[in-house]
Amino acid sequence: MRDEDKSKEQLIKEAIALRRRIAALEALCSTHEPFSFILQDDDTSITQKYETTTEALFNLNERLLADATRLAKAGETLRVAKDQLESVLAAVPGMVSWISADLNYLGVNDHLADLFGLTPDDFIGKNIGFLGAGSDFNNFVRDFFKSPMRDRFGEIVSDISGTSRHYLIVAQKYNRDRAAFIVGIDITKRQQTLEVLQRLATFDGLTQIANRRCFDETLEREWRRMVREEEPLSLILCDIDYFKLYNDTYGHQAGDSCLQKVAAAIAEVAQRPGDLVARYGGEEFALILPSTPSYGAVTVAKSIRKSLKKLQILHEKSRSGQYVTISVGIASLIPTTRSTAEGLLKSADRALYQAKKEGRDRIIVSSGLQPH
Ligand code: GH3
Ligand code: MG
Ligand code: MG
Repeated sequence: MRDEDKSKEQLIKEAIALRRRIAALEALCSTHEPFSFILQDDDTSITQKYETTTEALFNLNERLLADATRLAKAGETLRVAKDQLESVLAAVPGMVSWISADLNYLGVNDHLADLFGLTPDDFIGKNIGFLGAGSDFNNFVRDFFKSPMRDRFGEIVSDISGTSRHYLIVAQKYNRDRAAFIVGIDITKRQQTLEVLQRLATFDGLTQIANRRCFDETLEREWRRMVREEEPLSLILCDIDYFKLYNDTYGHQAGDSCLQKVAAAIAEVAQRPGDLVARYGGEEFALILPSTPSYGAVTVAKSIRKSLKKLQILHEKSRSGQYVTISVGIASLIPTTRSTAEGLLKSADRALYQAKKEGRDRIIVSSGLQPH
């Protein structure tokens, strides 16, 4: 309805209502007056505040960006280092493990896990004994953690899939000695080569019994042991009779084969743990019999001759019969610090010479020494 159409009373009513609203709005405005005052008068300070805050935010943003770049670079460096470490671990031709001082695996390389048909994760947190590869490794690690040493190396034998393998172990502690980094290199082949060399150095290639070098070393060792134990030591020297004639008759190869048979016959007799049978020279054999008095040595010598006789190695040109025979010299004594092994050897050699002189194919016990 238009104002012209409203009644006087109605217009008055509406005017009163309008007044009331205006009063109410005025009251409302008066409460906001201080803010509008600040907004109008403090305009510059707000702008400054805005600019300072923006600059601070900008600086903060720059710093965060720089930090993020640094972190990204550090992350990249770490990733490269991790890659390098992993490639080194993969390339190491051996077992690599990290072990805590309470003897649990912290980690292993793939090579070690593969050896046992496991994955590296299978090792984590397990005691080092869980593989059941023998006690050598466990003892090595346990002793290493007990010792104040920060690094150590040694050789151990481990049982891998039922076969014994030799390892060179290098260990290094870290994390304030609460853990150790351990590398094991398989040296089984080297060990086997060493054993072959050891065998070549101590054994005679033709007869497969100990050689002169082994004889000399054993004699010195047994001599000292018998001095300590005050036990008798006996030496037996055997020499094949008319062996030059044997070679001349049957040839050098037959001579070699004869030497092998005689060596085997002697070795078969001297079977006690401390006994040693050696090829002393061309067709001479020597026996070291620890804790054996002369009558024991005589028994052994008789057995050797008996077993050789049984072989009946034909020697038609021999002047001692139709088969190969030996002459034997024996010397025995209880070693003391006043006597020498060399003296005992000379006595046995003299006895052998005596056996040859008296017609061969016999046993002579050295008369220069008191039989025991
Ligand atoms: P005797 O009864 O006095 O001991 O006479 P012998 O001929 O056995 O002794 P001699 O010392 O005169 O000769 C030893 C021979 O042993 C000389 C050599 O032909 C032979 N001989 C030494 N070493 C070997 C070898 O490795 N193989 C062969 N086939 N013969 C060897
Ligand atoms: Mg000889
Ligand atoms: Mg001879």
